[in-house]
Amino acid sequence: MTAALEQALAQDQLRLLYQPLVDLQSGAVVSLEALVRWQHPDQGLLAAHVFLPQADAAGMTAAIGLWVLRRACGDLQAWRRGGQIDLRVAINISPSQFRDPGFCAAVVAMLDECAITPGALTLEITETALTEAGAGCDELLAGFKARGLTLTLDDFGTGHGSLSSLKRYPFDAIKIDADYIRNVVSDSHDAAMAKSIIAMGHNLGMKVVAEGVETESQCDFLRRNMCDQIQGYFFAPPLDATELHQLLASGRALPAHLLRMHRPPRRLLLVDDEPNILAALKRLLRADQYQIFTAGDGPQGLALLAQQTVDVIVSDQRMPGMLGADFLRKARELAPDTIRIMLSGYTELQSVTDAVNEGAIYKFLTKPWEDEQLRGHIAEAFRVKEIADDNLRLHLEVRTANQELAAANRRMEQLLLEKQRQISRDEISLSVARELLQHLPLPVIGMDDSGMIAFINGAAAGLFRHSGALLGNEASLVLPELFPAEADADAGLPHRHLADIDGQRYAVMCYPMGEHSASRGSLITLSTVEADR
Ligand code: C2E
Ligand code: MG
Ligand code: MG
Repeated sequence: MTAALEQALAQDQLRLLYQPLVDLQSGAVVSLEALVRWQHPDQGLLAAHVFLPQADAAGMTAAIGLWVLRRACGDLQAWRRGGQIDLRVAINISPSQFRDPGFCAAVVAMLDECAITPGALTLEITETALTEAGAGCDELLAGFKARGLTLTLDDFGTGHGSLSSLKRYPFDAIKIDADYIRNVVSDSHDAAMAKSIIAMGHNLGMKVVAEGVETESQCDFLRRNMCDQIQGYFFAPPLDATELHQLLASGRALPAHLLRMHRPPRRLLLVDDEPNILAALKRLLRADQYQIFTAGDGPQGLALLAQQTVDVIVSDQRMPGMLGADFLRKARELAPDTIRIMLSGYTELQSVTDAVNEGAIYKFLTKPWEDEQLRGHIAEAFRVKEIADDNLRLHLEVRTANQELAAANRRMEQLLLEKQRQISRDEISLSVARELLQHLPLPVIGMDDSGMIAFINGAAAGLFRHSGALLGNEASLVLPELFPAEADADAGLPHRHLADIDGQRYAVMCYPMGEHSASRGSLITLSTVEADR
């Protein structure tokens, strides 16, 4: 495997595909995720999950990662020069790359070489990588962040990352794993998970991306729930350079009805086993301009609900296979936001009253119906639905606005954290410098700007051991031998003169402080000189 992969690198058999991330507010492609492939001489194009684990076991991850980084930066540079000035690229970071302390510097050097602003490159890091890096995470992530890179927590919800790690680490975005998106329209638990992840992300000031979006109804769900970006076969699969070029050049975007703030047409589902009733209802409601879907029985109606968002359902009760009341119960589970009406001539009412009392049915209307009354009831149902939708939209808009506030807060906190880190680093270097000075054989004395002794190292303390207390006293009073009368005060600094101390001749140098630091005051050093000089 190692040999084959080395050959793959040497013979340029690796490929980088790019999958677009689309913004749900503007509909435009905003970023591209780079996904590696191996064009194997015998086995054809191999997917990442086929060879990356083996590459990792063979110790080839770093080499492949570097290749990906170089290629992605090169491509991004070319696209940006070609006019796609706002385009960004995301690369996936393997756990071992993430732990590699030299990796950050390699990324920065590559960005520099390609003249790319760090913010245009996103690193996608998985929860697994965080878990494996353990306590080192803080430092590693802070390093990336301090250099201006964008960070995404990938495959969110699949690893063992705890919620507190979301708050603690400086991620700009989270990606909801495709596992939660697959059944987001048909499984109420997955829907609840996806909604909670979006809410949590926004409350913490992060953008939320959904991956593995394959259908329009998944995209519609995510749009309605204020997800920020989507990625998946629905918009585009991973593309090679030529396909991508065509897509970008065409300016393809999401259609308006899939954008976050769009108000969709009124969608109505009619369920009845009698085709002539369906036809009569459609005729009656034509003037109201609803988008009408029909189903001949309960199971068909449920299948349609799994594919298509609707607002109002009108169902018969007596149908073969599944009673209308049972269908509406299931419809409520699948699409709790729908308004459900029963239209029935059936008078055995026990199962219907039960369903009404459980909240599965909003209104019960009887057949044969009176045309204008029925139209009025259905129109009212849409108004109720729209008020609920508006409430939800407002709620989500407020939360989305809060997201920006929270993002600003988060940036402040990170800045503060970085400052604290800088301060503790400075403190450490200060103590190191003090210790160094302390052990220097050359006597050193530091004075503040009023001439008071603020520091005295070991060699100086030894030399002036008979001069009494020095620290905190005025230097010219306690150490007059360093300030001879002839060295006049306005000679300026730095200056040098000779002094005899303990029978030894010293060159006394006095330097002003503040040239390389924010300190004021001055520094005196003494070095021995031959007596006749
Ligand atoms: P990922 O980062 O979560 O990437 C998303 C995966 O989902 C990709 O698989 C992509 O092709 C696939 N995908 C995209 N749209 C859809 C969709 O609509 N439905 C479904 N079912 N799948 C979709 P891929 O390219 O095989 O990559 C698998 C994983 O391998 C990636 O997961 C990533 O963790 C890793 N990987 C890929 N390229 C690289 C790389 O260059 N470096 C590293 N370290 N890991 C990589
Ligand atoms: Mg990824
Ligand atoms: Mg992922």
